[in-house]
Amino acid sequence: METGVTFESVLRKSNKLPTLPGIAIKILEAVQKERPDLQEIAEVLSTDPPLSGEVLKLINSPFFGLTRKVTSVSHAVSMLGMNVVKNMALSFALVKNFSSNGQGDFDYLRFWKYSLTTAIAARMIAEDVSAETPEDAFFLGLLHDMGNLALARCLPDQYNLVVQEAQAGQCCNFQVENQVLGFDHMDLGRHLVRSWGLPSKFWQPIGCHHCPEKLDKADKDVQTLTHILNLATLYAEMFQSDNTPTHLAMIDHFTNAYGFAEALNVDRLAVSISEETQRFFPYFEIDFEDDASYLETIERARAELINVSTDFVDQLVAQQRQIDTLRRQATHDGMTQLMNYQYFQETLNREIARSRRSQSPLTLVMADIDHFKSVNDTYGHLAGDQAIKTVADCLRANLRETDHIARYGGEEFAIVLYNIPPDEALSVIERVRQTIGDQTIYFDGQSFNITMSFGIASMQPEESLDREALIDKADKALYRAKSGGRNCCRVSKR
Ligand code: GH3
Ligand code: MG
Ligand code: MG
Repeated sequence: METGVTFESVLRKSNKLPTLPGIAIKILEAVQKERPDLQEIAEVLSTDPPLSGEVLKLINSPFFGLTRKVTSVSHAVSMLGMNVVKNMALSFALVKNFSSNGQGDFDYLRFWKYSLTTAIAARMIAEDVSAETPEDAFFLGLLHDMGNLALARCLPDQYNLVVQEAQAGQCCNFQVENQVLGFDHMDLGRHLVRSWGLPSKFWQPIGCHHCPEKLDKADKDVQTLTHILNLATLYAEMFQSDNTPTHLAMIDHFTNAYGFAEALNVDRLAVSISEETQRFFPYFEIDFEDDASYLETIERARAELINVSTDFVDQLVAQQRQIDTLRRQATHDGMTQLMNYQYFQETLNREIARSRRSQSPLTLVMADIDHFKSVNDTYGHLAGDQAIKTVADCLRANLRETDHIARYGGEEFAIVLYNIPPDEALSVIERVRQTIGDQTIYFDGQSFNITMSFGIASMQPEESLDREALIDKADKALYRAKSGGRNCCRVSKR
């Protein structure tokens, strides 16, 4: 099923992408300063009296159980801390801003129930596992599914199709999204939250909240936050599902997998989260229809699970991961995790079309390791493999996330740099060339250096080059780099 939709085509519909309400932007700007000024945050909030009224109402409610009445936002900030007040204010601002506009079928109520439940669950899990950042966990839960909201607003027809397919096939939305669209709501969410200027500790977990194993190069805190967020989404899904036993089994599985088993009591937490949401929702004018105790539901699910083997749960988890893994295997190189040749050709076609439509320049770079045969001959084939992986890491670390990098062949790489002027592309690649040359490669007690040659071909939007012609230009430039002595960059002449 191909819809012809691309990630970029969604981003181009930027007038439909969710933007943060003005007050939320101001609050975030104030708390993100290196030395946040508590008074400033209070002042920002005071510019929106209905919002600060709601925040104060919630803070003075039994939900917070404060013994003294809080009379002003600045008082609230000094009593509860900036992050708590920020999260309450953002919750109100977002729920109010993104609610039904009477158009389309998107169920905003269900969306916010799910996101607020995830936020509450994330905070409670973070508290139990003694993570340092329960308020960051809440914030993540609140924002984690913004990509879904964006999909529903930008591509309502495709979004409905995804929801129906996922229900029919009993699989996760994000798996169908990848099949139908070639990207998913996690990709979109990460992009959005990043474009709002939030730090990586937020966009990294959001970018893989259903598959934390894909988290790339993150420090320990971000890893913990990602695990907390993933577990929180499983709890929130359980509350929306009729199949409590299966969800409970998944929660058990991942609680163990993340090393939270000692700190978390899965069943008790489920009951506490449901109680907490019941108390929290009314302040957002959200009904919690099912006001019976969740304890019974959990107990019944536990009883059913006694008869289910852990093998079944492992299979279930494996199945969910499988589709995703297969897709990745088909499009990426196993050794370097870069795009493979075939997928790069498709990507290049898409990028050329995009560059024409958006009238922005595009640069293709072909790169090849110098005298690689002698690296293999001198240090061995495995040392050669290590060199290839090092090059891949260097390229990833020194290029932007929006650039495309492929392993084009054995020791050949191809790169697409999007929307930068040709002379800037040259200086980027020149820097990459030097970094690779400076990088010592260690393998099995040996160390050595390599160099690379680069051929660069840029295309201006008005040029009518096709993929083959552009590759040919970059290839010829690479040939000149090789014959000109190697370890250098050559730019194709127009
Ligand atoms: P130059 O590009 O500078 O002209 O010289 P070269 O020695 O790099 O030339 P050539 O392209 O002919 O050789 C490439 C070598 O790379 C040949 C092949 O055995 C080796 N090679 C290709 N793929 C791999 C791989 O995955 N691992 C290792 N270790 N070697 C590989
Ligand atoms: Mg070579
Ligand atoms: Mg070669």
